Amino acid sequence: MNNYENLLNQLAQGLVTKEEGHRWFSGLAEGEQLDVLGKLWFFAAQAGARESDVDVAIARAQLKPGFTPCALLRNGRLQIQAAKVLGLPLAEHEKSFRLLSALFQVADERRRKEECKDGCSHWWHTKGR
Ligand SMILES: [Zn+2]
Repeated sequence: MNNYENLLNQLAQGLVTKEEGHRWFSGLAEGEQLDVLGKLWFFAAQAGARESDVDVAIARAQLKPGFTPCALLRNGRLQIQAAKVLGLPLAEHEKSFRLLSALFQVADERRRKEECKDGCSHWWHTKGR
């Protein structure tokens, strides 16, 4: 587990602020940003993200549903649409980061409430038990 994976989990749990997360992300090189976006989607999927989580995530990230990554993600099967979001150009990375980190957060919160409430083996779930 490398440093940025740790940071993404802290961001999902509110241990790192959105502002700190955005500042960190915007300072990365394009290729690193792509790695991070891919990892965020992987984490969100692992946490059980669903299509019904997308609108919640958009509202939480304070994005507009018409923004390209949002419109894509709302437009069909999550797995397929997420792959399209990951293929967007650099100009959309920032919004994609906000969207996918909110999606991960929404899914992770549910998982912590439903599956992890009596303790779990997720090393990053050290808070809120
Ligand atoms: Zn857990």
